Amino acid sequence: MAKKSLKKDDKGCWEKGNCEEPDHFGPLFRMPNKGQFKFSMWYFIAALLVMMIFKSLYQPVPDSLIGFSDFKKKIESGEIRQVQMGENYYHGYTSEADGRKTAYRTVPVDDPGFVALLDQKGVTYHRISEKPNPFASFLLSWAFPLLMIFFIWRVLFQRMGNMGQNVLTLGKNRAAIIAEGDTGVQFADVAGADEAKEELMEVVDFLKNPQKYTSIGGKIPKGVLLVGAPGTGKTLLAKAVAGEAGVPFFRISGSEFVEMFVGVGAARVRDLFKQAQEKAPCIIFIDELDAIGKSRINVLGGNDEREQTLNQLLVEMDGFDSRTGVIILAATNRPEVLDAALLRAGRFDRQVLVDRPDLEGREAILRIHSRDVKLGKSVDLRLVARDTPGFVGADLANLVNEAAILAVRRGRDEVEQEDFHEAIEKVIAGLQKKNRLISPDQKKIVAYHETGHALVAAFTPGADPVRKITIVPRGFGALGYTLQIPTEDKYLLTEEELYGRIDTLLGGRAAEELVFGRISTGAANDLVKVSDIAKRMVTEYGMSKKFRNVALNHRQPGIMGMAAEPQGGYRDYSESTHSQIDQEISDIVASRYKRVTDLLSEKKDLLEKVTSRLLEVETIDEKEFLALVGKPA
Ligand code: ADP
Ligand code: MG
Ligand code: ZN
Repeated sequence: MAKKSLKKDDKGCWEKGNCEEPDHFGPLFRMPNKGQFKFSMWYFIAALLVMMIFKSLYQPVPDSLIGFSDFKKKIESGEIRQVQMGENYYHGYTSEADGRKTAYRTVPVDDPGFVALLDQKGVTYHRISEKPNPFASFLLSWAFPLLMIFFIWRVLFQRMGNMGQNVLTLGKNRAAIIAEGDTGVQFADVAGADEAKEELMEVVDFLKNPQKYTSIGGKIPKGVLLVGAPGTGKTLLAKAVAGEAGVPFFRISGSEFVEMFVGVGAARVRDLFKQAQEKAPCIIFIDELDAIGKSRINVLGGNDEREQTLNQLLVEMDGFDSRTGVIILAATNRPEVLDAALLRAGRFDRQVLVDRPDLEGREAILRIHSRDVKLGKSVDLRLVARDTPGFVGADLANLVNEAAILAVRRGRDEVEQEDFHEAIEKVIAGLQKKNRLISPDQKKIVAYHETGHALVAAFTPGADPVRKITIVPRGFGALGYTLQIPTEDKYLLTEEELYGRIDTLLGGRAAEELVFGRISTGAANDLVKVSDIAKRMVTEYGMSKKFRNVALNHRQPGIMGMAAEPQGGYRDYSESTHSQIDQEISDIVASRYKRVTDLLSEKKDLLEKVTSRLLEVETIDEKEFLALVGKPA
C-alpha cells in the first residue's frame, strides 16, 4: 500500500519559505531538547539559591519591643535568662539553652549598673554584631542581581528565537558533518536536469581524483552556483554531488549566517572554512546564497552584519587554494540580487542553470517519485507529464503523494490514473492561486511568439543560428542570460548582423500579431533590446541613412576598457538633431517590422507546423528545428 505517500517525506514545496527541508545542522546547533533541560535545571538552582539566601538572612525576629525599664524588670524577675547585646538593640531570651523561644527587644539606655545586674541574676550575656553576615550580603548585593539579569536576558533571547544558545557559542559553527555517502543521494535520483548534471559530473570527478587535475595544472572550479526556480532540485543536486563523490558535505543555509550580532556570521564563515579544509576533499554547500550575498549597493540603510558576513565569505574564497579539494556549491533562486563580487573569477565563476523540467524530464521525475508507490495498470506517467507543464520537481513529488493519498481515501490499494487526474487538478488550483502556472491560452501565445523568433532567425542573413526553442516557463525571465557578463562591446558586428538581431527580436511580436491579430506584453523585453540596438546604430555606429558615418554619442572610456553607458557620456547635438534621431530609430524599427511580418506570412505553414510541435514537446533543439524548416543541418 502506497507506503511512500503516507510518509509525507516530500513537502509541497511551492514557495521558498515552506520549501526548505529542515537544515541538517539546525537542530543539532540549537539542541532544543538539551537546551530546555538545561534551562529548567537553572531554574532549580536559582530557586535553591534564593532559599539559601533567605535562610542565611533569617534571624529569629524578637517578637516584642519593650521599654528598657521593662527589660530590666524581666531580668530581675528571672524571666530573661540570656541577653545578646547589639549596638542598637539588646535581645532577651527566656531560655538559656534555646535562645530562640520567646524574645524581647529593647533600645538600650546608658546604664552602668546593667552588667552588674546580669551577673547578679546569673544571666548569660554576650555582645553581638548586628551586621548581616558577609556571605549573605555578598549574595544579596551582587550575585542575586546578576543572576536576575542573566535570567531576564536568557528568557528574552529564548523568545527571540533561540538566540541564547547562539550567543553562548559565539562563532562556533555546528554544521553537522555528514559522513561519506551519507547524503544518500545519487545522480540517478535527480531527473530532468541533464545539463546541470553534466556540468556537476566534472566537479564529482575532480573530488574523486584531484591529483588527475592538479598534476596537469588544470584549473579547478572553486565555486559553482546553482541557479533555478524553487523546487527545481538544486539542493538535491548538491547532495547528489556529495553522494556521488563520497565526500563529506557541509550544508549551511544563507539565512543561518545572518545573525543578530555583528560579527557572528563572519566568525561562522571563518569556522566553516576551517573545518572544511580539515576534512578536504569535501563540499561546502551554501543554500540560499542570496540571504548573505545580496548586492551591497542596492540596500536601503545597509546591513552591517550581512555585509561583514559577505566580506568574510569573499575573503575566505579568495584565501583558500582550490587544489586542497574543497569545492563550494551554492544555490539561489534570485541570482539577480547577488553582489557582483560573488560572481567574479575565483569565486562563483561557474553558474549552472537548473531549469524547469520539460516533458521528458517531468516523466522521469514522476518515475523516480513513484518508485515506491504501487501503480495500477491504468497509470500512464507520460500522460501525467503532459498534463503538468510548468511543474517543477517538488510539485511533481507532491503530485505523486497527493495521488496516493486520494487512492487510499478511496479504499484502493493501487494508485490509478483517475487519482492522478484529480491530484493534478488539485495541485494546479493551488499553483494558479500562487500565479505559478500559465493557462493553455497563454501557452499558445508563447509558442507562436517563440516560433516567430526562431523562423525569422532561420530565414534572415546575418542572424544567429537557432540552438533551442522552448516554452518551458523559466519563472524568472531571461535569467540564464542576465548572469553572463555583457558582451556588447566584445564583438565586431556588421550592419547585416545588427539587422539580423533586430529582425529576430521583432519576430516574436510579429508572429503574435499575424496569428491572433492582437499583440501582448510578452514582447516588452524584445522591444527594449530592439530600441537599444537601433539607437546605437543611429547614434554610435553611423549606420542610419541620415547620419551615415557620423558618431553622435561619444562614449566615455570606462574603467578597465569597459565602455560606460552612452547615457553616462555626453552628447553634443541640438534638440532638432535629437528629434531626427528619434525619427531615424522609429524608421528603422518600422521597416524591419514590415520585413519580418512579410516573411512570416510567407512562411505561415511553417509557423503553424513548428508551433504545434513546440506545443507538443515544449522544447525543440537545433537539429529538429532545422529538419522541420527543411534546412540542412
Ligand atoms: P530547490 O533546492 O531547488 O528548491 P529541492 O532540491 O529542495 O529544490 O527539491 C525539493 C524536492 O523536490 C526534492 O527533495 C525532490 O524530492 C524533489 N525534486 C526536485 N527536483 C527534482 C528532480 N529534478 N528530480 C527528482 N526529484 C526532484
Ligand atoms: Mg533548496
Ligand atoms: Zn520574445
